Amino acid sequence: MSTVLEVKELSKKYPKAEKFAADKVSFSVDEGDIFALIGSNGAGKTTTIRMIATLLSPTSGDAVVDGNSILTTPAKVRECITYLPDEAGAYKTMTGYDYLKFMGGLFSDDAETIKKYIAKAEAICGLGDRLKDKIGSYSRGMIRKLLLARAVMTSPKLAILDEPTSGLDVINALEIRNMIKSLASQGMSFLISSHNMLEIEYVSTKIGIISGGKLLVTGSANELKQRYNAENLEEVFERVVKSNEIL
Ligand code: ATP
Repeated sequence: MSTVLEVKELSKKYPKAEKFAADKVSFSVDEGDIFALIGSNGAGKTTTIRMIATLLSPTSGDAVVDGNSILTTPAKVRECITYLPDEAGAYKTMTGYDYLKFMGGLFSDDAETIKKYIAKAEAICGLGDRLKDKIGSYSRGMIRKLLLARAVMTSPKLAILDEPTSGLDVINALEIRNMIKSLASQGMSFLISSHNMLEIEYVSTKIGIISGGKLLVTGSANELKQRYNAENLEEVFERVVKSNEIL
């Protein structure tokens, strides 16, 4: 299986900060992987993700997406990723359909290609006729589905999703998780961040636990539960973070 993302000792120290927000973070994501970065508030998830998404420059280290370095070829990296921040919104006065068309136009000048993007997004989001309505009339769950469909309609190699289901009800969250799993089974790779351990356990193929800017452990949910003799991921998380505090 080919490696889509290789993160190599990626570090970030914000100006005037005493500590590194990300400290030599290294991990890899293979084709079809759903890699979940988990950590407490301020652990360094967003900093790490934003560097990989080429929105923040690293202090040191590198990340390579589909053979392209974020340092030397950031434009190439942007061609093969999509990034959906947790606070992302959509234009409320546009219809869902017009929004997809508008966003498709940012990725291609070719009408046929844009049509293909829209058809893919329509199939993924499951909003049906509601795509003809203005986004201002959508629920939070509908907006999130539209945004996710928009993010993946161009078939990026790597989709980076910050808190993909935050604030959604159980059914909408489950639908989004299933969307992610289905796309991954077709070969798309995901890097997600979440505070929801149930979600992580359900959706991820690999997990990285980050604390104080350091990536402490990586492995699948089952591997980590076995390694830490834990019943669930919350226990794993607590044990990993606490043992690191003691060190
Ligand atoms: P959360 O779960 O709360 O979103 P996080 O794991 O995404 O947290 P980051 O936002 O990456 O954490 O923050 C890591 C550290 O870097 C924190 O100590 C934070 O205060 C600091 N930090 C983040 N952004 C900046 C910034 N622009 N300038 C200075 N320090 C920052």
